Amino acid sequence: MIEAKEITVRFGAAAALRDVSLDLAPGRRLGVVGESGCGKSMLGLALMGMLPDAARLSGSLSVDGKEMAMASDRDWRALRARRVAMIFQEPLAALNPLRRVGETVMEPLRRHLGLDRDAARARALDLFEETGIQDPAAKLRQYPHELSGGQRQRVLIALALACDPGLLIADEPTTALDAHVGLRITDLLVRLARDRGMALMFISHDLAAVARTAEDLVVMYGGEIVERGATAEVLADPQHPYTQGLLAARPPLAAGHLRERLAVIPGTVPGLMHLPEGCRFSGRCAVEMAHCATVRPLERATGPFRSAACHLIGGER
Ligand code: SF4
Repeated sequence: MIEAKEITVRFGAAAALRDVSLDLAPGRRLGVVGESGCGKSMLGLALMGMLPDAARLSGSLSVDGKEMAMASDRDWRALRARRVAMIFQEPLAALNPLRRVGETVMEPLRRHLGLDRDAARARALDLFEETGIQDPAAKLRQYPHELSGGQRQRVLIALALACDPGLLIADEPTTALDAHVGLRITDLLVRLARDRGMALMFISHDLAAVARTAEDLVVMYGGEIVERGATAEVLADPQHPYTQGLLAARPPLAAGHLRERLAVIPGTVPGLMHLPEGCRFSGRCAVEMAHCATVRPLERATGPFRSAACHLIGGER
């Protein structure tokens, strides 16, 4: 469904994404992890054709076999209307506070699918049921502020599904929710992707949420993919020093043993203008070598369907 080859997004001289390549097939669930500022959301926006005006994109981006890297706004709008959809971290900000949520969900059904009012209402009701909204007929008539955070996120998911997209990009969809509600949302996304044969890109800094949601995983740092593979394999045996640091800095994924103190990755993600030319993780890496800051490591195979970009790792990808 999506084939991105060496996507680079520049703001002037600074590259917010550098040579990002990935494939996403129908029905696959891909997790994208990394700290804030690592390029996860920028990647989601690039795949939606929603980059800021100042951004310059290069590389190849094919959606359903159609090259979109240089597509017009009009082509992107048509694609977003029917094939790719996105949900965001804060559903309250994404919903019109002056509109009943049922009207919001009915609007794309009428505009893009040409349904009349009764048919759009019936379809919105189905979508509310499919996304697990309790008492859906009553909820259709409510305003966003009358719903809980979890209910609002379900409304946004229903809105995203309205035109039956082939790809749903979920950008930190559980971050603003409490842990229990967040778990229910991740389970809902997995079920919807399975039932609909829909590709899901799940962007999160929360490794536990990604482990629950995604079959495949890419780890991003400094606007690059530094490691990729099957989620279970990467989490069980991280090979890139950044992935190892991320895993050491999060609570255990499985209950039963608690570390007394979590490790931290020293420093913070540098701003765009201050990223090293070589390995972008240099400056924070515990096993850095003399040439790391100036010589860029290539992404190399570390096993079937696994790779990482680090000078300590050998073998071409
Ligand atoms: Fe660390 Fe060097 Fe590997 Fe980068 S290339 S992750 S700085 S060892």
